Amino acid sequence: MSEEELKHQDIDIELCPGCLYENEPGSHFCCKCNAPLSSLSTIGPWERLQAQRHIYANAASNPQRLVSVVGIWLIFGTICIFGTFITSITLYAFYSSSLVKPSLIDLLPGLIFGPMMLFIGAFVTIRTTINYRKNLARARKKKR
Ligand SMILES: [Zn+2]
Repeated sequence: MSEEELKHQDIDIELCPGCLYENEPGSHFCCKCNAPLSSLSTIGPWERLQAQRHIYANAASNPQRLVSVVGIWLIFGTICIFGTFITSITLYAFYSSSLVKPSLIDLLPGLIFGPMMLFIGAFVTIRTTINYRKNLARARKKKR
């Protein structure tokens, strides 16, 4: 292989900025850690969602700084509170003694999305906090 060809190959490899894994040329996401590799991740709606998911997943599974933990609390804590709110008003509408009873079909979205938001919000918030505390403990052990 000539030097020119080697150079060309180097450029083709998509090196992941997160884990330094050498991805196939033209990949938009790292196939090892899912980090976004190309600008496509900021253009396509699905790709943007995937890139965002990667950021949150990274922050939730390995929070190093208090700032990212607080960020997760703000975002997912709000989702959790909204979920609680939606669930309560849906249940209230169902059990209230008003004359016009809403049908179960009308309440179905609230009964699905309310608890779902409540659960996801609480799960991510709690998991992030636990992982952050684990990281803190690990960092403290290393210092000794
Ligand atoms: Zn990677």
